[in-house]
Amino acid sequence: MKGAAVFPGTHKLGVVNDLPEPHVTSTTGVKLRMLQVGVCATDREIASFMFGTPPEGSSYLVLGHEGFAEVIETGPEVRGLRPGDLVVPTVRRPCGAPCCTACCNDRPDFCMTGLYREHGIMGMHGFMTEFVVDESRYMRQVPPSIRAAAVLVEPLTIAEKAFIQAEQIQMRLPWSKEPAGHHAVVLGAGPVGLLGAMALRLRGCQVTVYSRERESDPRADISRAIGATYISSQDKTPEQMASGIGNIDLIYEATGSAALAFEMLNVLGRNGVLILTGVPGSHGPQAIDIGALITSMTLKNQCLLATVNAGNDAFDRAITDLSEFCARWPDAVRSLITGRFTLEQFESPIHNGAGIKNIIEMSK
Ligand code: BGC
Repeated sequence: MKGAAVFPGTHKLGVVNDLPEPHVTSTTGVKLRMLQVGVCATDREIASFMFGTPPEGSSYLVLGHEGFAEVIETGPEVRGLRPGDLVVPTVRRPCGAPCCTACCNDRPDFCMTGLYREHGIMGMHGFMTEFVVDESRYMRQVPPSIRAAAVLVEPLTIAEKAFIQAEQIQMRLPWSKEPAGHHAVVLGAGPVGLLGAMALRLRGCQVTVYSRERESDPRADISRAIGATYISSQDKTPEQMASGIGNIDLIYEATGSAALAFEMLNVLGRNGVLILTGVPGSHGPQAIDIGALITSMTLKNQCLLATVNAGNDAFDRAITDLSEFCARWPDAVRSLITGRFTLEQFESPIHNGAGIKNIIEMSK
C-alpha cells in the first residue's frame, strides 16, 4: 500500500509504494481505511526536518496525525465499533514506563517521561496511508452527520484540552461558572485558532480574533460569521485591540509567535489565563523585563498555561462540539477546508501552506 513519507536521513519526501498492508493481530485491534488526513504546521516542520522520528529500524516516517477513517475490520473482542463506523484515531501512545503515572492512567498527553510516541510525528508511522491497524481504545467514534468536517476533530482537540484545563483553573474564582473566559481573545486565525474561537463562542464567550490577515480576508469573514469580532494586527496594536474589550479573562494563543505571546501578557486582564499552544522553537534571546512581568502577573492573579496534545475527554468534547458547529455555522465550518489533495500530491500543501486547512483525500 501507499504512504506519504519523509526520509530524515536523506532529507527527502516521497510516496512509498510498497508499505506492508497491516493486519488485525490482536483481539481488540481495528483495521481502518483512512478517508482524510489534515496537514498542519507540525507536518511542515517535520518535512523541513526540524523534528520527526521514524519508527525504530525505518529510514522513513509516514506523515499524518489529523486522521479520519472508516472501520473495515475488528478483532473478536472489540466492543462498540463495527465495520462501516467512522472514527478519529488519537495521536499519542503511552510511554510504557511503570513509573509514568500519566501514561498508566491513560493520559499520555500528560506523559511524564517524554518517551511517548506519536503517530506521524515520533516513533510511529502516521495516517497518510491507505490502511492503519491500531487498538480500538485509541479510536473515537464520529457520527456520520459530521463526516464532511470530521478531519477537523484533531486540531479542535488542542483547543478543547486547553479550555477543559482553563475551566478547572478558573474554578479558583468562587463565583466562577462556565465559561472560563467571558471575554476571550484568540491569537491567530489558523484552524486551531478559528476552531478554538468556535468552541469559545459555543460557551457564550465574547470572542475577539486577533490575527495578521486583513479585515477582508476569508478568515475574518469566518470569525464574524460565528459572532466573533475580528481585528487585524496590521491595523491595531495589542493595546488598541484590547482597549475596546473589558477585562480580558482568557487569551488563547494559536500562532506559535513567542514574541506576540509574551506581549499579550500586557493586555491580559485580572485573574486571567493566557494559554500557549504554539511550538515556536528557539529564535535566540529577546530582551524582556522579567521583574515587571512577574510583578504584574502576581498582582493580577494571572496564570500562564501551556498545553500540548489531547486526551480522550478532549476528543469526545471536540466531536460533540463539532456537531454543534456544523448545525450552527455550516458555511463557516465548510470554509475552513480550503484545499483538497490526493496522496500523490501531498508535497504541495506541505510546501505551500496557503489557505486555512488543507487535507489529503485518501479515499472517498
Ligand atoms: C499535534 C499534537 C502533538 C503535537 C506535538 C501537534 O500538531 O496536534 O497532537 O502532540 O503536534 O508533537
